[in-house]
Amino acid sequence: MATSTNLGFPRIGANRELKWAVEAYWAGKIDAEELQQRAALVRRSHWDLQRKAGITHIPSNDFSLYDHVLDTSVMVGAVPERYDAPEGPVSLDTYFAMARGRSASDDAPGVPAMEMTKWFDTNYHYIVPEINRNQVFSLRSTKPVDEFLEAQALGIQTRPVLVGPVTYLLLSKSDDHSFDPLLLLEGLVDVYENILKRLADAGAEWVQMDEPALSLTLTDKQRSAFGRAYARLSSALPGLNILVAVYFGDLRQNTKAALALPVQGLHIDLVRGRADLENILAKLGEGVSLSLGLVDGRNIWKTDLEETIATARRAASVLGHDRIFIAPSCSLLHSPVDLDNEKNLDEEMKSWMAFAKQKVREVATITHVLNGGSARVAGKLAANAAAMASRRTSTRIHNPVVKERSASVTPEMSRRTSAYPERRKAQQQVLRLPSYPTTTIGSFPQTPEIRKARASRNRGELTTAEYEQFIRQEIENSVRFQEETGLDVLVHGEPERNDMVEYFGEQLDGYVSTSNGWVQSYGSRAVKPPIIYGDLHRPAPMTVDWIAYAQSLTRQPVKGMLTGPVTMLQWSFVRDDQPRSETCRQLALVIRDEVGDLERAGIRVIQVDEPALREGLPLRREDWDAYLEWAVECFRIATSGVEDRTQMHTHMCYAAYDDIIDSVAAMDADVISMENSRSDGTLLDTFRTHPYPNEIGPGVYDIHSPRVAETDEMSSLLRRAVDVIPSERLWVNPDCGLKTRRWDEVKPSLRHMVEAARELRGQS
Ligand code: GLN
Ligand code: ZN
Repeated sequence: MATSTNLGFPRIGANRELKWAVEAYWAGKIDAEELQQRAALVRRSHWDLQRKAGITHIPSNDFSLYDHVLDTSVMVGAVPERYDAPEGPVSLDTYFAMARGRSASDDAPGVPAMEMTKWFDTNYHYIVPEINRNQVFSLRSTKPVDEFLEAQALGIQTRPVLVGPVTYLLLSKSDDHSFDPLLLLEGLVDVYENILKRLADAGAEWVQMDEPALSLTLTDKQRSAFGRAYARLSSALPGLNILVAVYFGDLRQNTKAALALPVQGLHIDLVRGRADLENILAKLGEGVSLSLGLVDGRNIWKTDLEETIATARRAASVLGHDRIFIAPSCSLLHSPVDLDNEKNLDEEMKSWMAFAKQKVREVATITHVLNGGSARVAGKLAANAAAMASRRTSTRIHNPVVKERSASVTPEMSRRTSAYPERRKAQQQVLRLPSYPTTTIGSFPQTPEIRKARASRNRGELTTAEYEQFIRQEIENSVRFQEETGLDVLVHGEPERNDMVEYFGEQLDGYVSTSNGWVQSYGSRAVKPPIIYGDLHRPAPMTVDWIAYAQSLTRQPVKGMLTGPVTMLQWSFVRDDQPRSETCRQLALVIRDEVGDLERAGIRVIQVDEPALREGLPLRREDWDAYLEWAVECFRIATSGVEDRTQMHTHMCYAAYDDIIDSVAAMDADVISMENSRSDGTLLDTFRTHPYPNEIGPGVYDIHSPRVAETDEMSSLLRRAVDVIPSERLWVNPDCGLKTRRWDEVKPSLRHMVEAARELRGQS
């Protein structure tokens, strides 16, 4: 018999119960005991749900109050010294201090949080382990055992999930860059041995060790670490079955290493690594179980049951049913919780989708059919086949006009009429900007009043006309402020936007927003990505009225503000029935049309933001070029349909460009603004070795901090920039948009910024 399994369930709760509990604890509204009780309720309801769905291997320890990598650091005793918790169990407050920092109080100085970064290519952020040469690992938390026993007491046998020791070390950082964390593998494995022994004693039959690092490009030395670690764990724990889970990609160069692991089970991601299957089936060790990651854990689409059952049958025909586990491709942490909760989606739309709860049912159904039980689920299979057929043919999804336009994009469409030097002349004539022109990145503070007005409009308490009047007033205030401050290129401030992707998604055919499709982003934070379900069509201009209104108020140029195609793609759930590149091209065409409408409305400067370009990079370096090629092409399609004299800007909020600078240059924006002030000169170093051909605005102040930026700091940053960037191509702007700041922070900072630019011009 094949076994139905799950790798992990979203921990936030169907109504973000965990968020509310954790935030209430932070605010001092509930105590630790109540927090733990509420967390236990969330865990229990998820275990129950999976049991009822028919999952045999139900995960435990997939839960976390903040982050599972942080949990691992605490478990193995990797608590940096500054948290002053040298030994023994790690308290809840130390745990949260590691996650979020601690502010100074009367009796203790403040302590910064640990660094956070993206978990592989997902939008989930983990707390980066800090491991130094002298790190001594020791078991300082028994969370995996505690949660295993908690489930056991409820009559539920679970499969504990741990971040594998090699992935853990490979994700860590050290202030000593020459230090190889794998040198500490032996000591770390000692701790894992200890915890696995305790799990075995408590009655665990299987444990799941997540080693997604096996889907990265590794050195031989890194690869061999897996063999060493698991040889030790297997021999120390003969009675415990270990499943090594690899996900987020195919195995490629790591296939041999994965197959050689002396473990009882291997999980592979068949959504992203379908091509691996035959090879693995042919070479998998005697008696090793294969966990087939068939249900997409990274997206919201319903699984094609007929197709996945056929794949499962093929695997079972080679290995025998007993060695088959059916699973999602990766933990369901990355999918929203429950489609049944959705109010925004009609029945047909829902019939195409599955969130975490629906996905575990799919796993159970596939397993059931594979085990010979088709009769009982005949209805489900028929409904699934009907949904698949309707997705293939629905006119809500397929728009021949859009497809045809996308297919007939010509190379000219991704090229501006003239090269940058020509365009620059034309733009100077129209814009007549001073040297070191000043501008901002687009948004101004999203004040409580703005949020309130939007909420009132959504509840119907404000009419559309009243709401629009309110927004116009906001825009006018922003324009007046910018004029008074002396900024050169103004913005309208984006007060009408709830979110830079959702705002556009709401206005496009082929896009839909959910009411409750939250996915954890970090800690208690979740995002609600809109869904691209069909061919993308723009029924009407999306931004022109607002921008044109702002322009009507002033003689200064107002910069039109759009979100770029790659960022729209990256921050949405996307179609799985066509390549990402194709969806991106449709987005590019839609934005191109908007750019054209802005230009026709008299807008002379237009910015197309691409903050997500970098995070779209594939996990493996060898796949980068293919991605960058279509991503840059899409940006160019979106931005090249304008006259020479229209100045096109782009913006990205990171400073690490070394490895993609050629692609950034190939985007051929007239002006690019980027984060710089926090990066210790990384950005400027890049431009020293790779001169950027067009104009650049390296951010002169950090918008992430409430601190008011001082003129001197910005002047000295600018003087450093002038060393690297020719002065006639240097812009002056903050690191990023100002929506998260308050006006009383923004106003003085921008005044100082304008002062700094004037100083540089020799005007003061
Ligand atoms: N134009 C956007 C803003 O100013 C850009 C945001 C971003 O880069 N993430 O808010
Ligand atoms: Zn930004």
